[in-house]
Amino acid sequence: MTNSSEKIILHDNVTVGDAGRLRFAGVDTAALAKKYGTPLYLVDADRIRCRIALYQTEMKAAFGGQSRPVYAGKAFCVKAIYRIMAECGASVDLVSPGELFTAKEAGFPLERAFFHGNNKTDADIALALDSGVGCFVCDSREELIALDRLAGERGIRQTILLRVTPGIDPHTFAAVTTGKVDSKFGSPIATGAALDLTKLALQLPHIELVGFHCHIGSQIFDVSPFADAADVMLRFIASVRDETGFVASVLNLGGGFGVRYTESDPAFDYAAAIRSLADAVRRDASANGLPMPTVLMEPGRSIVADAGMTLYTVGTVKEIPGFRTYVSVDGGMPDNPRYALYRSVYTVVNATHADRAPDRAVTVAGRCCESGDLVAEGARVATPERGDLLAVLVTGAYNYSMASNYNRIPRPPVVFLSNGKDELVVRRESYEDLVRNDL
Ligand SMILES: *Cc1c(COP(=O)(O)O)cnc(C)c1O
Repeated sequence: MTNSSEKIILHDNVTVGDAGRLRFAGVDTAALAKKYGTPLYLVDADRIRCRIALYQTEMKAAFGGQSRPVYAGKAFCVKAIYRIMAECGASVDLVSPGELFTAKEAGFPLERAFFHGNNKTDADIALALDSGVGCFVCDSREELIALDRLAGERGIRQTILLRVTPGIDPHTFAAVTTGKVDSKFGSPIATGAALDLTKLALQLPHIELVGFHCHIGSQIFDVSPFADAADVMLRFIASVRDETGFVASVLNLGGGFGVRYTESDPAFDYAAAIRSLADAVRRDASANGLPMPTVLMEPGRSIVADAGMTLYTVGTVKEIPGFRTYVSVDGGMPDNPRYALYRSVYTVVNATHADRAPDRAVTVAGRCCESGDLVAEGARVATPERGDLLAVLVTGAYNYSMASNYNRIPRPPVVFLSNGKDELVVRRESYEDLVRNDL
């Protein structure tokens, strides 16, 4: 939908249109702001469909068989996303009963769902069993025992993967690094705990172990930590075979491919990364005398991040000479807590004057009663003034899904864009919504 003569900003779905106004997925952002108000989450639904299709095509070609992506819904979880995943024939990851409920309400076929979580309660397990979730990703001894009992009560033999930690540190920010030995997720291979749990899973009558899962981290631009993880995992699969005779047929390598948030991030070639990872897995499988497993990957961020944009309206512009310029917008940490949590860097554009040079370094602040309520620091934008629209790019992942009502600020609506048309998929929260559970 993008006119090829338009100037692109960071990603090809972000362009400069008429009168210098920013366009997203071929649609004028000023018109969208006028129709839906701000703050506003915009989602390029066609971009999501393309990314899922890319993973599906490339994984099938590179790894073969039933190898496929499993969309990690925690990145962006609304009913409309599950309708897209259902339509694309994709599989999904669910990490909580709330995500499970959302997928179910959207009519997503739950036999294509994987149920994660390092602390599933008996109620969570029962809900997932009764909803027909296809595969559990089991995390602990307690869970295996509880699942075996609850599946047995229902006369079910539940398919599972066992989550293990390969001990790989992908050298990213510690808070998004989960595959190391010291982790609340999974069981370490290095300590022997993973093998012990495998033996237990193989003994339990109402559990059908089919393979192993690992997830090493997020926002990773390098294939080598994934190849290292695959190497450790295939050796582990071989040692399980040697000890027990069980040959795992499924290897889930988790999510984590990086996304371009700013000009200084590389443009990542997902297809090339998948092919090079497949070469590594094939080599490791053959070195260990194993058949090529069905390989699953769990992309979240790389499916939805650059499909998203947040629009705000500028309120105050406060220059503190010798220090900085604060540009306050009508949203902030309640709709995007990632700067406050991780110091995540974003590209910010004056959407009203996207044709002007980004001449000013500003701090984008929200309107919470909290000095840490910032969306960006040192962002270069064309000098904004009250009433201008400010766009924060690449907010499709971990923004809406992490949003809160801090300071009793209602969550913004979500509008999907497809083929140049806009569709409201989550309405703006009202003040009545904010007090709906208050007695
Ligand atoms: C968060 C997570 C993902 C998704 O990671 P991305 O970096 O968003 O691709 C996948 N699998 C598991 C187990 C996760 O915890």
